[in-house]
Amino acid sequence: MSEYTKILVAIDLSEDSSQVAQRGHAIARNNGAELHLIHVIEPLSFAYGGDIPMDFSGIQDEIHQQATQQLHRFAENNGVDEQHQHIILGRPEVEIHATAEELGCDLIVVGSHGRYGLALLMGSTANGVLHGAGCDVLAVRVGKKK
Ligand code: AMP
Repeated sequence: MSEYTKILVAIDLSEDSSQVAQRGHAIARNNGAELHLIHVIEPLSFAYGGDIPMDFSGIQDEIHQQATQQLHRFAENNGVDEQHQHIILGRPEVEIHATAEELGCDLIVVGSHGRYGLALLMGSTANGVLHGAGCDVLAVRVGKKK
């Protein structure tokens, strides 16, 4: 079996992120692969655009700044340099696919909460990334076990 050469780890900046990154790191180490981190910011207009007649640009900039700082801090703690950090505006699934393709990644690592029932029907980012990915996807089980 061929080894992975470039790994993209998707980080939502929640407390589960370390678990997801650690798994990505372990695989990168074992394969001698390059590791990239991505965090996607969903534009406020996606959620509220049509409904609330408001200019979101100030709040959006603030969210962008905060998220960038958090990703930098997270990357620093995980030994990932700035050239391997990607902060992108858009829909997580779409941007994770696009960035993986752009960088030529052969593995995407995401967290998965193992949802069931209604939550499963509504879908998750992990499901969204899996469907339509042009490379392997590893879903790392995160969150508390019931
Ligand atoms: P969710 O389905 O939203 O619970 O997220 C599951 C996993 O998808 C997270 O652990 C991340 O790996 C990834 N993910 C979710 N949201 C984002 C985001 N905004 N940016 C990057 N990755 C994300």
